[in-house]
Amino acid sequence: MNFDLSILGTASALPAMNRYPSAQVLDVRGRLFLIDCGEGAQMQMRRMSIPYARIDNICISHIHGDHLFGLFGLLSTMSMLGRTAHLNIFAPAAFSKVLKFYLSMFGEGSGFEIEHHVLAMKSPEKVWESKSVEMLAFPLDHRIETYGFIIREKMPAFNVHKEYISRYGLTLAEIAALKRGEDVVRPAGEDTGPSLANGFRHFSGTSEPLVIPNSEAAYIPYRPRSYAYCSDTAPFPELHEWVRGVTLLYHESTFPDALSDMAVKTHHSTARQAAECARDAGVSRLVIGHYSSRFSDTRIFLKEASSVFPDTILAAEGLKISVPLEKWPFSK
Ligand SMILES: [Zn+2]
Ligand SMILES: [Zn+2]
Repeated sequence: MNFDLSILGTASALPAMNRYPSAQVLDVRGRLFLIDCGEGAQMQMRRMSIPYARIDNICISHIHGDHLFGLFGLLSTMSMLGRTAHLNIFAPAAFSKVLKFYLSMFGEGSGFEIEHHVLAMKSPEKVWESKSVEMLAFPLDHRIETYGFIIREKMPAFNVHKEYISRYGLTLAEIAALKRGEDVVRPAGEDTGPSLANGFRHFSGTSEPLVIPNSEAAYIPYRPRSYAYCSDTAPFPELHEWVRGVTLLYHESTFPDALSDMAVKTHHSTARQAAECARDAGVSRLVIGHYSSRFSDTRIFLKEASSVFPDTILAAEGLKISVPLEKWPFSK
């Protein structure tokens, strides 16, 4: 039940010593999501022992080279390794030309199908799901069409406290209702045992109706974990609402405060603005990256962001952030 973010690259558009451009891998319970694919992403995956074969979903935020130029190499390697499994790529419409070019020049003999899921939403929309995990995409505010992603565990079914089952003699249908998150309501009157119609007991057994609240009789076995990826973007009012409450937020921070005019001009964010988004969204932790190559020392980004949102982590090549599973009973 792991939920691990591996940082492959933290650079922005221009090359910087000891940095790779934007790329990350999120491992949710063994299912890998590659999020952006800057140059060198496959080398970084090798370095971090991340198997290419387990990637079934690739998210490309936008068609700027620092988020994309590693993709051809990776697709080519997947082909050479004999991949046959279907590959999903979630990317804006402009990506279709890029994919067409790649396939026309290098696609011959490739044994796997690549499906381009075109992103074109105006607010968060579900774009992929499995039984226990789902992914949403949402628009960002950059110089070209750009999207962010939320990948999260689905809400688990409620568990029912054993003492409530015995205390009220809950029927199977009543237990099922509590597991779905509903209250059990028995109308006033003499108890006649389970109804054939819905399996609930017909009556409370007294002159008052009986309500067995879900909040008391049931509990969620663990808190679902969530990750939001926001790169590249200028700040905009809806963003913190869209990523509200996520466990881990990645937000680009291309510039420090001193270059806020550059951030405005290039539709990027400062470290402070990334932290303000995290604070306003009430997330648990923030990770920042996509640093301008002007800054070889990234501590200024951490200083500015953590003055607004203390639980900030600096993304760095090779960093792995594990989000632990928090089981019931919860501490807060
Ligand atoms: Zn970028
Ligand atoms: Zn960009």
